[in-house]
Amino acid sequence: MVTENLKLVEEKISGACRRCGRKREEVTLIAVSKTKPVEMIQEALQSGIRTFGENKVQEILQKQPLLPDGLDWHMIGHLQRNKVRQIAGKVCMIHSVDSLRLAEQIQKEYNNLDMTAKILIEVNIAGEESKFGLAPEKTEEVIRKIAEMPNLKACGLMTIAPFTDDPEENRIHFSNLRKLLVDINSKNIDNISMTELSMGMTGDYEVAIEEGATMVRVGTGIFGNRQYT
Ligand SMILES: *Cc1c(COP(=O)(O)O)cnc(C)c1O
Repeated sequence: MVTENLKLVEEKISGACRRCGRKREEVTLIAVSKTKPVEMIQEALQSGIRTFGENKVQEILQKQPLLPDGLDWHMIGHLQRNKVRQIAGKVCMIHSVDSLRLAEQIQKEYNNLDMTAKILIEVNIAGEESKFGLAPEKTEEVIRKIAEMPNLKACGLMTIAPFTDDPEENRIHFSNLRKLLVDINSKNIDNISMTELSMGMTGDYEVAIEEGATMVRVGTGIFGNRQYT
């Protein structure tokens, strides 16, 4: 199932890139494997996928030793400060930096390891009550402080768009996140030159690519529906 699904997702990504004149290499597909067994991840590996997204620290730590070295693991879920130490140095990027205090904690732990953390700033672009993420108007202020933290590299912005049956409804939010990135880059803040836009999930990744996504996070579309117990 995973193999066939991946073929379809790949076709849709290529199609979206073609429609808006972007190169396929500009978009990284992150296979979101949360709640799914390593057997399914192995099937994705056979299709050439090397980049996986998980939203729980514990799950990353459980799965990593069971799979080959050298895969790119992305932490995409809400991260508690007391769990940063456990994943420090073990993930390729943290997508979900949603507060200054969390950024400070990541700075501290990566400083201890003498490493640099690649991070994205999570923005609540649609202003939804239930969502994590910085308010758009607070984002620049936080990024200015992150810019002064020597062990953090702010690579870009991330958002989780509203749940909707009609992906076109999210086009405006993706477009707004891209504008925010362009706007903050234009301030020429020292150490800040952001290139990544992590936006788009199973229901809306094609629209997200058309609006500039450089990373799409696709779970259900690859691994099927999730069962939560
Ligand atoms: C689960 C999750 C996804 C993937 O969602 P699907 O709709 O299954 O593609 C993407 N991003 C985040 C942050 C998630 O938690």
